[in-house]
Amino acid sequence: MDEQTIVAPATPVGEGGVGIVRLSGSRSVELLERFFRPSRQLFPLPSHRLCHGHLVADDGTHLDEVLAVFMGRPHSYTCEDVVEVHCHGGNSVVRRILDLFIAAGARLARPGEFTLRAFLNGRIDLVQAEGVAELIRARSESARRIALGQVEGRLSSLIRSHRDQLADLLALVEACIDFPEEDLGVELSPVSEGVGELLAGIDGLISSFDQGRILREGVSVLLLGRPNVGKSSLLNAFVGEARAIVTDVAGTTRDLIEESLAIGGLPLRLVDAAGIRETEDPIELEGVRRARARAQEADLVLLILDGSQTPGDDDLLALQVCDPHRTLLVLNKSDLPPAPLPTPFAELSRVRVSAHNGQGLVALREAVVSFFGAGGEVGEAPLVSERRQLEALIRCREALGRVTVCSDSPELAALELREALDALGDVLGETTPTEILDRIFSRFCVGK
Ligand code: GDP
Repeated sequence: MDEQTIVAPATPVGEGGVGIVRLSGSRSVELLERFFRPSRQLFPLPSHRLCHGHLVADDGTHLDEVLAVFMGRPHSYTCEDVVEVHCHGGNSVVRRILDLFIAAGARLARPGEFTLRAFLNGRIDLVQAEGVAELIRARSESARRIALGQVEGRLSSLIRSHRDQLADLLALVEACIDFPEEDLGVELSPVSEGVGELLAGIDGLISSFDQGRILREGVSVLLLGRPNVGKSSLLNAFVGEARAIVTDVAGTTRDLIEESLAIGGLPLRLVDAAGIRETEDPIELEGVRRARARAQEADLVLLILDGSQTPGDDDLLALQVCDPHRTLLVLNKSDLPPAPLPTPFAELSRVRVSAHNGQGLVALREAVVSFFGAGGEVGEAPLVSERRQLEALIRCREALGRVTVCSDSPELAALELREALDALGDVLGETTPTEILDRIFSRFCVGK
């Protein structure tokens, strides 16, 4: 393992009240003591105590007035000796302090290297490490809660308990192989029972991925409809600010306008597409093409009609690009007298709203949240939110599925159980190759 002492800014680049430079490794205390002039406390510095003082270069240059803390191994983020210097937040102050430590022999940390060390030193597993990156990236309350649960090890301990159960089953099967002629009273029926239970547990985790993804990344909701039905007005009413251009001239929303918001804790990306209609205008044609493509990608399409007018050919065209299972009809302009709704449209579930006076907007919000099931609520059960974890769980489930079909051959059963066990080990990072680890940690920010 790389024993070098690493250093990096732990706070983002830019101006701020405080900037933090963090060191980890066996030389971090020595490096701090070389440049730190504590105002009261004498060396050696006590662990986990913030000390006031000044940072002074070897040539006597005063760099900054700082607070420094030393966290002795193994009770630190990385399980190594860690030092943090809290200086004034500003690019040149932080830069100068970094340069000081680098010139004295520390190496600039790679992205995620502090967390990688925490992982390699066994303080956290890979699921928890991924949770750290997610927590930093979290943009909604639900995403924060899922990520924190992951950092605190709730998902890991569930996976570990499945893994222990699997290891017990494997031991039982191996006993059958090793002592076939001796009557140990070993029976394989508890194995298939155990495998069934495990399958249910792993399936539960796999199916939690969609909910996890929805809560973490949010869902995309496309506002689709011919020009002038009120898409931009609805987007504005939803978001509460005038983002999209609202005009009386048909076809002004040519580009895609996207807004992120959360309703009932559910993170949403609301997209206002170009108005769908038959057109010769090349710019608008491109917009229509993109709207079509978006309708295929969106998790939900809100097909907007002007409820005060009988739907025409352009409305039909819009309907044709929608998948009815993922479409909710929104009849806008309910402040005006309603027009009758003909058959193909009347078959869709619908909400009447008015972007002008806000009527029906609450019902529309509720309809959107209920379309996505439990909506924004993060339940007690841990959720899988990383595709990497999902893929390993699918491998585990496939191997377990093969155990049930080869129950009369304990050798084959053992082989599949071992494969399933490896897959769970992979989720936790116990068997993950270095190249994959490097790829995972390189997505982290510097200083974490
Ligand atoms: P888009 O082309 O579908 O994005 O439609 P806009 O949002 O630009 O609206 C087109 C026209 O319909 C504008 O004149 C809006 O003021 C009007 N409009 C939008 N929503 C409503 C509504 O709920 N009631 C009424 N009466 N007019 C609306």
